[in-house]
Amino acid sequence: MTEKEDYQRQIVEYGRKMLNDRLVRGTSGNLSVIDREKGIIAITPTGSDYDQLSIGQVTLMTMDGERMEGNAPSSEYSMHLGIYHARKDVRAVVHTHSMYATTLAVLGKSIPAIHYMVTMLGGEQIPITPCYELYGTQELADSAVDTLGEKYHAVLLRRHGVIATGASLPEAFRRAAVVEEMAELYYRAVAIGEPELLSVEEVQAVAGKISNYGKMQS
Ligand SMILES: [Zn+2]
Repeated sequence: MTEKEDYQRQIVEYGRKMLNDRLVRGTSGNLSVIDREKGIIAITPTGSDYDQLSIGQVTLMTMDGERMEGNAPSSEYSMHLGIYHARKDVRAVVHTHSMYATTLAVLGKSIPAIHYMVTMLGGEQIPITPCYELYGTQELADSAVDTLGEKYHAVLLRRHGVIATGASLPEAFRRAAVVEEMAELYYRAVAIGEPELLSVEEVQAVAGKISNYGKMQS
């Protein structure tokens, strides 16, 4: 298996995982991984059924959006490209319409620091983009990039879904799953009461622990 095929294989593997873990349904959502040394991006093709997707169908494209191999790319490819151009630390992007996170996104709500795991996503909240933008547009890509900024690893796309990033596809996938877990927790908590949010000091204490140990010890 060549290096390129290995990136395509990762897209097939994590696409199935995304479906099996119920982070997406049907053909919604998409994911990508980049080889920064070669400037090649592997991304889910448009309208792909995750359980039918073969390695050869996975799109390979350049950083300029030029298709090299595979089927036509996901309609959201400009959002993936925009993030790769803006954030050099990002090597994988996962986009889902997971149910609880998207429920909050359609209500226009960000997720506050309800639990220390929120800080694993880069800050004191999981922010939401300021405006609704049509899928597949440059406006949506710009809005996702602006809201991610320099520090966040995940954002809610207003009235749409979730974007999560990582230094690898497993990391971006894990973060997309954490967004959904935090969204479900927030939804359940506000359904029966008012959650006690972490204070600024409590958020900073968790952030310090992450940077000391390099990763979350949960
Ligand atoms: Zn979408």
